[in-house]
Amino acid sequence: MIEFRGVYKKYGNGTEALRDVNIHIDDGEFVFIVGESGAGKSTFLKLIMHEETATAGEVIVNNFRFSKLKRRDIPYLRRTMGIVFQDFRLINTMTVYENVAFAMRVTGATRREIRRRVPYILQLVGLQNHARHYPPELSGGEQQRVGLARALVNNPALIIADEPTGNVDPERARDIVELLTEINRRGATVLMVTHEHSLVRQFSQRTITIKDGTVVSDTQNETPPDGMSPLQPAKQPVMLGGDQL
Ligand code: ADP
Repeated sequence: MIEFRGVYKKYGNGTEALRDVNIHIDDGEFVFIVGESGAGKSTFLKLIMHEETATAGEVIVNNFRFSKLKRRDIPYLRRTMGIVFQDFRLINTMTVYENVAFAMRVTGATRREIRRRVPYILQLVGLQNHARHYPPELSGGEQQRVGLARALVNNPALIIADEPTGNVDPERARDIVELLTEINRRGATVLMVTHEHSLVRQFSQRTITIKDGTVVSDTQNETPPDGMSPLQPAKQPVMLGGDQL
């Protein structure tokens, strides 16, 4: 769950990157964040990841209330989220398997848990036949699927994807979003920043538009005429078992 209440972010140089942002995203939702370059999308994500802190207002993510967050809580907060980067950020000297296993090892997972989990996740993203390959031997789309596998392996409640299709061929970009949709269907909340309008149109999901630091539209709040129910009712959260993802 993500909640922003009256959130402002002003950087040290005086730039007001976010102004009075009020957003509620339930567990189990899939949300696109769109907006022009400089609109404030990265700042929005950085506040959620606690890489930056709000100048005013309250941010609550996965039951962590940031105004009350202690330094020692931050690793626990971060474990509730998996991050997918535009530039993949894989370790090129490690195989696909090792890249994903490494993300588990740093959280203290046992060798047995790693041996059980990594092949399962590689299969989920369709990379079971590439486990022994190194990232430079893979296409952009395949590398991003390694990035997705790494984000998923610790079964986080929330997946944050910052322009995940930015370095992927257009025809493979769709595969990435389809995978994110599948991950969402299995219970994870997915937040994806993109400027690719064609993707947003193809996958009709809740879309929040940020412009000049404020939320200018949120498709969840659009009520169709004649008082009919909203186009996209909030989804019921899907409870996940230990390793369904
Ligand atoms: P987007 O991700 O939509 O391109 P950003 O959140 O990166 O937008 O930027 C929003 C505004 O904040 C821009 O005017 C940008 O120049 C400014 N900004 C972003 N990061 C910093 C920073 N670390 N210090 C100062 N200004 C920043």
